[in-house]
Amino acid sequence: MKRILVTNDDGVFSEGIKLLAQELKAVGKVTVVAPDREQSAAGHSLTLHRPLRMRQLEESVYSVDGTPTDCVNLAVLWLQKATPPDLVVSGINFGSNLGDDVTYSGTVSATFEGTLLGIPSIAFSQEVGENFSFDSAAAFARQFVEVLLEDPLPEDLLLNVNIPAGTIRGVRFTRLGKRMYKQVVVEKEDPRGRRYFWIAGTPEWQEEEGTDHEAVSSGLVSVTPLHLDLTDYRGLEQNPQWSRRLGRLAESLSL
Ligand code: MN
Repeated sequence: MKRILVTNDDGVFSEGIKLLAQELKAVGKVTVVAPDREQSAAGHSLTLHRPLRMRQLEESVYSVDGTPTDCVNLAVLWLQKATPPDLVVSGINFGSNLGDDVTYSGTVSATFEGTLLGIPSIAFSQEVGENFSFDSAAAFARQFVEVLLEDPLPEDLLLNVNIPAGTIRGVRFTRLGKRMYKQVVVEKEDPRGRRYFWIAGTPEWQEEEGTDHEAVSSGLVSVTPLHLDLTDYRGLEQNPQWSRRLGRLAESLSL
C-alpha cells in the first residue's frame, strides 16, 4: 500500500484536512502531520530560530508547533525516515490558491518542500462560495490520487489543484493566472495611540484563457503543474545585450 503524508496550512484540526485524510485512507496508508494552528499565508517558511515540538494526537495523526514546511521536514526526515512517503498531499485548503498567490500559500509551499525532498506532491484547495462544503473536493481528491498512483510518479511531480465552488463541471490542465492586486495597506491607531497597519484588499484577476483562475471561475477543477526552478529561461535567451553588458562590467572590475 502506498504511503501518503497529509498536511495543510489551516491546522491539524481543520475540517479540510480531516476529510482529505479520511478519503485518502481508501487509497493508501495515511499519516497526518500538520501545524497545531492555522498557518495560512505562511509561505515556504522554515523555523530555524526555536525548537519544534511534535505531539501525537491519535494513531497516525501528529501536530507540530510550526509551519507546513516544518511539518513536511519532520515527517519525512524524522517520523517516517525509515519508510518515506510515496506522496505528499496538502489540503484541502479553505479557499483557492491561484496564480501569483501560490508563493504566499502554506498549502502549496508544503508541496514545494515535498518536491525538494524528492517526493511527488499535490496541493488541493477549495474555492469559497455559497453553501460552502469540502465534500466534493474530498471525493475528487481521492479519485484523482487513485488515478495518479496507478502509474509510477516522477519524483519532481508537483501539482496545484483548485476545486471550484458548487458543482464540478470538468477538469482542466492550466497555467498560473496573473493577479492585479488592489492590495491596500490600511493604517489605524491602537487604543494607546500607536499606529498599526493591516494588509488588505480583494484580488482581481486578468481574464486570460488557459489560466487556473479562468478554469475555476468556469466551474472546472484546475490542475497546474508547477516546478521550483524560478529561472527565467526566456529572459536568459532573449537578453544577449545583458550578457554583453555583464561581460564589459566583469572586464572593468578589478578582481
Ligand atoms: Mn489556508
